[in-house]
Amino acid sequence: MKNVPFFDYPQLWTREKKALIDLIDNTSSKGGFIMQTELEDFETNLSTYTKSSYAIGVGNATDAMEIYLQAIGLQEQDEVIISSHTMLATASAIVQAGGKPIPVDIGFDNLIDPDSVENAITSKTVGIMPTQLNGRTCDMDKLKAIASKRDLFIVEDSAQALGSKFKGKFAGTFGLGSCISFFPAKVLGCLGDAGALLTQDESIYEKSFQIRDHGRDKNGEVMCWGRNSRLDNIQAAILSYKLQDYENVITRRREIASMYETQLSGLEELSLPPSPDSDPNHFDVFQNYELVAEKRDDLKLYLASNGIGTLIQWGGMGIHHFKNLGFNQSLPNTDKFFQGCIMLPMNIFISDSDVDYICETIKNFYRS
Ligand SMILES: *Cc1c(COP(=O)(O)O)cnc(C)c1O
Repeated sequence: MKNVPFFDYPQLWTREKKALIDLIDNTSSKGGFIMQTELEDFETNLSTYTKSSYAIGVGNATDAMEIYLQAIGLQEQDEVIISSHTMLATASAIVQAGGKPIPVDIGFDNLIDPDSVENAITSKTVGIMPTQLNGRTCDMDKLKAIASKRDLFIVEDSAQALGSKFKGKFAGTFGLGSCISFFPAKVLGCLGDAGALLTQDESIYEKSFQIRDHGRDKNGEVMCWGRNSRLDNIQAAILSYKLQDYENVITRRREIASMYETQLSGLEELSLPPSPDSDPNHFDVFQNYELVAEKRDDLKLYLASNGIGTLIQWGGMGIHHFKNLGFNQSLPNTDKFFQGCIMLPMNIFISDSDVDYICETIKNFYRS
């Protein structure tokens, strides 16, 4: 029996230990811990890679969302429409910035459903915040058409989507602001918490730049109320180093997705995510390989008993399922989705033979 963990965290360190120790040593030896050249360099590298006008390194992606929503000037009672299939962070960022998250249903592609967005618009709606889920960018043409018709802003939760594109344009560069997460298990993961904010708007850039460092501008003058959410310099150095190899990481993830597709598409008990080359408008980076499976809970146990780790995203809860946070509604597609969703191992630590083993084990489960 093989052992294929869902995500083998120690490998983030062990696979590149020598290079990482050198980076940490170089940066630490010169005392470069906070807001030094490594952070500035990484911000430049990130904005260059995503063809974004501006990038700001912050403590994590949740902070990034709070900061740009604050910079936009979200007001109390302002409603922002989100997908219910997202991390709690999307909703909590809106609440922390003073607004009200309105979760809506997902569409056939498991991303926010444009029709549900339109139906949720009220006189209090000010914006739409789509989540670029699992490394796939939403159909931004449809969302932008809705937004411009109703004069709403778009901001993106692109925490899972660095490198993903819709019609050749990078996730995170469609709206007023967006976030990227470098949580260890993200496609570009560092050795702890870290995130970034992208924006194309100079005034949001300047305001966000100030908010993340106690309201201070580049000259140290206090311009507004702020907070401390700076991206650690050592993490920035590590991220620049890893960004150099990022294209290969994406290629490998797409290769694994194709292998899953080839081996599992014959099983009618499964509903798979779109394959990497199925739609020329979408370039997916496969942060996750999330599918919907019949007898999901039994499948999960069977895979575990065969040494294969899986994960049910967000603990199996959409935003509208959190009754303790005041939500009480039903969203048919999302409700159905969460009864069957499961994520298979998807990262550069797994080998071709691991993928074969996972697929064989799934086939055995449905055959028996
Ligand atoms: C990981 C994630 C976040 C939060 O990122 P942090 O860096 O941990 O704050 C937000 N939204 C989505 C969709 C995520 O996957």
